[in-house]
Amino acid sequence: CGIVGYIGNRNSQEILIDGLRKLEYRGYDSAGLAVYTENGLQIKKAQGRLAILESQLMEAPLSGTAGIGHTRWATHGKPSDVNSHPHTDNSLKFSVVHNGIIENYMALKEELTAKGHNFVSETDTEVISHLIASLYDGDIVKAVQKAISRMTGAFALGVLTDYEPDKLVAVRVASPLIIGVGEGENFIGSDIPAILEYTRNVFILNDGEMAVLTRNAVELMTLEGNFIAREMFYVDWDI
Ligand code: GLU
Repeated sequence: CGIVGYIGNRNSQEILIDGLRKLEYRGYDSAGLAVYTENGLQIKKAQGRLAILESQLMEAPLSGTAGIGHTRWATHGKPSDVNSHPHTDNSLKFSVVHNGIIENYMALKEELTAKGHNFVSETDTEVISHLIASLYDGDIVKAVQKAISRMTGAFALGVLTDYEPDKLVAVRVASPLIIGVGEGENFIGSDIPAILEYTRNVFILNDGEMAVLTRNAVELMTLEGNFIAREMFYVDWDI
């Protein structure tokens, strides 16, 4: 129900947790993070309040300068640790947070299962990470675009892959998502308060748009990959 993402030069864990806290009002039943660590993409997630995830992270922090976070409001599959986001695929190389519903997830799940993919959760979201993994051939942006063209429903997404650790891909289709622009760091969030402590410069994604974030740049594009020029929006209000 809430998405945050960070790519920059600071430790991401604190920024992601802080953003999730600001999204608490949206309601949730579980929370999780995926962070690029020196051992690759690592996921930590837990059913229940954010405090539960936080205490787990206190014992075993996820250290790295890029990551995504999620608070879930279960629509497909009960609230549980394994159904919490981020979701990954069998290679553990891809990681996805999702706000919304994938309407055709059953058909996609059957197709991917027939191709040898093993699903561990009951969620609609897990098909996204498997689908992206199955379509990946060296370009995460293209893989996400191809995956989207197969999906129907509502989806705001944050996507990371171990293969391209300098990129964070964001998608907005019928669920909200905004981009925050910093210096040497960029952010995504379900709404502006999630990132307002860190930057006041934002791009509002329109429905049917996506963005590719690196540490030093944000590219906005259509779901087909046509670049979009847009003025940055300065947020002059406070929470
Ligand atoms: N449909 C997804 C799930 O049930 C995402 C729910 C959400 O937006 O939090 O896991």
